[in-house]
Amino acid sequence: MVYFLEMLVLVSPFDFKCSITSIHLLLLSYYFLYSTMKKNTFLPILFTLTSILQSCEDNTLYFEDAYVIENVNLIDPLEGIEEKQTVVIKENKIHQIYNTAEVILSSKNKIYDGTNQFLIPGLWDAHIHFAFETILGEYMPDLFLSNGITSVRDTGGPIDLVLPYKEYSLKNPTTSPRVMIAGPLIDGKHNVYDGSSPSFPLLSIQNSSVSVLQKQVQELIDKKVDFLKAYEMLSPEQFKLLAQMAQANNLKLTGHVPLSMDVITASNLGLNSMEHLRNIELSMAKDFEALFSERTFALENKNKISGSKLRSSLHQSQRMKAIANIDSIKQDQVFNTLAKNKTWQIPTLELYQTFANKKYKSEAFQSYFYMIPQKVKSKWMEQINSTSDEPDQEMIKYTQWSRDMVYQMHEKRIPFMAGTDTPIGFLIPGKSLHDELVQLNLSGLSNLETLKAATYHPAEYFGLEKNLGRIKVGFEADLVLLDKNPLESIKNTQSIRAVVKAGKFMNRAYIDSLQVN
Ligand SMILES: [Zn+2]
Repeated sequence: MVYFLEMLVLVSPFDFKCSITSIHLLLLSYYFLYSTMKKNTFLPILFTLTSILQSCEDNTLYFEDAYVIENVNLIDPLEGIEEKQTVVIKENKIHQIYNTAEVILSSKNKIYDGTNQFLIPGLWDAHIHFAFETILGEYMPDLFLSNGITSVRDTGGPIDLVLPYKEYSLKNPTTSPRVMIAGPLIDGKHNVYDGSSPSFPLLSIQNSSVSVLQKQVQELIDKKVDFLKAYEMLSPEQFKLLAQMAQANNLKLTGHVPLSMDVITASNLGLNSMEHLRNIELSMAKDFEALFSERTFALENKNKISGSKLRSSLHQSQRMKAIANIDSIKQDQVFNTLAKNKTWQIPTLELYQTFANKKYKSEAFQSYFYMIPQKVKSKWMEQINSTSDEPDQEMIKYTQWSRDMVYQMHEKRIPFMAGTDTPIGFLIPGKSLHDELVQLNLSGLSNLETLKAATYHPAEYFGLEKNLGRIKVGFEADLVLLDKNPLESIKNTQSIRAVVKAGKFMNRAYIDSLQVN
């Protein structure tokens, strides 16, 4: 009898995607009919039942020109984890999301089994430079994608060098990360990144006056940059005009607080985001007035030294002095201003950490250098070998202080974005973002908040949050599939099984092939 029932199931032409309950019901019906009816009435009824079974197939879902990631655990940066979900991806969008238990998929679908895997939105590196190592630049898009970074924010490079990366990404959304560009650093009369040495390639434009700045910034706006970046040698008048132009054109203004200004004034004038917490300490120092007037005098640059030397000398003489003497009331005033103005922070902690501990000297660090072209690797090794092995004690203190700032600012609800400054500091494009996530997490952001800093927050910063940075129906299908849960350990963002960019599914073998040069 049991053998007979098994045979019936095997020969029944119904789709095994039909639920277990319906299989049970049908088996019971077969059995009931077989044991109660006369043999001659059983067969016609068997046929009827079988055709009912066939209609079961019609209740299954089939998605044309689409594929399905079945039974995966979704991690939405705002809502957290939703277990056992089935996600349909069509063209470049998340087409549908179902509870796995509530949907019967036709076996005709292209199905990827996501059981025990975790799906997060595609990651952003919100601080990169395509133009810092021009040879490496061309390899960076692949390195980003293969590490799950589906969007980047280029925070400074000559417009003619960075614009092609943006244009390529717009034309080829499945084979390039999304690229948002600032164009060059907008600097003052003595610009820092002036091309005078390998450490200071030409990333900036020099502005000898307010009117020169107006003309040059208008040219960047005309070339459709996505945001603007203020740099450290700007005068207060130049900064003010730049902030006005950014606002008038609905562009975010990011940057380093100019050395000629304090952070409260810069934030109130319209500095929307700050990179590296740069120059934040001055405004919190007990002896702010003395330090500031010393700085103002030095900026007159009577000895006509280069912008990079002038800037370094001011950091060297003032930064540690300021952080050793923080006034908690002034600190609160700074934090309150940044919170009120929603001045985004991109603290680049991994960059500081790498410099402080000379991490690039270690074999573990260099084991990733296979990802970069030989020519760049040789250059980096030469630079690395010419530095001392000793950890930089001041930098260690400063890094620790920066982490503490991140913790306190986060408590005050000042928003963060994850960015690395790659390839500055020998940081490998893509790989370094995962290290920055660990740093943000160590500084007090929860695992979900850390993910938010690399997904939803950058999307929100650019006003794209209705379409990007979450796992919701209708959102852009930029996704990363992980083997392990990043809410258990943030390091699990590194357990990448597959990457989806603008709907294109890239499995492990494919993304591995992107990493070898
Ligand atoms: Zn940078």
